[in-house]
Amino acid sequence: MTRAFRIGRIFGINIEVDYTWFIIFFIILVGLYTGFFARYLPGISQAARWLVAAVTALLFFTSVLLHELAHSIVAVRSGMKISGITLFLFGGMSKMTDEPKSPEIEFKMAIAGPLMSLALAAIFFAASIALSFASGGGVFGTVFRWLGIVNGMLAVFNLLPGFPLDGGRVLRAGLWKSMASLGDATRIAATFGQGLGVLMIVGGIFAFFSGAGFGGLWLAFIGWFLMQAAQSSYQQLILRQALSGMPVGAVMTEDVDVVPDYLTLDRVVQDYIMGRNHPAFPVQGDDRVRGLICLNDIRSVPRDRWHQVTAGEAAPALSERNTIAPTADAWEALVRMSTENCGRLVVIENGLLRGIVSRTDIMRLMRNRLELGI
Ligand SMILES: [Zn+2]
Repeated sequence: MTRAFRIGRIFGINIEVDYTWFIIFFIILVGLYTGFFARYLPGISQAARWLVAAVTALLFFTSVLLHELAHSIVAVRSGMKISGITLFLFGGMSKMTDEPKSPEIEFKMAIAGPLMSLALAAIFFAASIALSFASGGGVFGTVFRWLGIVNGMLAVFNLLPGFPLDGGRVLRAGLWKSMASLGDATRIAATFGQGLGVLMIVGGIFAFFSGAGFGGLWLAFIGWFLMQAAQSSYQQLILRQALSGMPVGAVMTEDVDVVPDYLTLDRVVQDYIMGRNHPAFPVQGDDRVRGLICLNDIRSVPRDRWHQVTAGEAAPALSERNTIAPTADAWEALVRMSTENCGRLVVIENGLLRGIVSRTDIMRLMRNRLELGI
């Protein structure tokens, strides 16, 4: 259910655009055309004004991207994994698969984005001022002035102390450092995030009824998004902490039936999938496990060929994507499964099959631990 498409790769970081981004691009484009440029560039033709608005909106999203790249580059240099940057309805988002390892790293990572936006604001303002001295401003001077203003606003907004905004991350880093507990620091910083979200919703609705129009509604929307994000990032941390230090070997199912690689898919479905009521099986050939076959792999073969294609042919070979070591963290297994839709990994040690682990196994363990309070 992908809603985003890739537009490129910078410093090894995938850049994606979510379809909701087109909505915000359109809103900014129309806002610039009917607002700022209508007011400050009244002399140019309508076609020219649309063009200037479009280029300015694209430069704005380039600025957002640079803000996110600043976060991501600091993160990658500090040894963290970044799965990519996504531009979406509410701006940009760097997708991290793990938490920062220390408060110092968190602080550096969090502050890098707003510093980038401040630097961009300074550059755009300087260019705008230089142009107004040289030529009275003109189209470029006006464009740069707007970009200077919005980059400055971007920096200030992101520095608000509500997690998961950058300012909230700075707050969390400080709390983490002084309390020595990432869990407590996150709970407090996320509570600030939720509080800030509520304030923005209330303020936005109030502004809307006081005549602020769309801007008020937008503020309320961002507040709602922030509230959700604060809540889910805290829940994710709880999940991660409960699963850290729990090895895959303790959760996996050890007695696993293996499918011989020469078996045709109709037999796999009849004897294994239906017969033993599991959606995935390791595939064995020459006394060695060679792959993992899931419902999806079978579904991708047309049904009238199930009696010809073998399990060995249909199953993807074992790789980083569908295997895990018994000593690895259960959290690591969950992260690895989230990029695959099979929901299962083969547990392998020294090339030998030790078991299979499923998302359901991990979630069941998680539920038991939470209910027992351990
Ligand atoms: Zn940021």
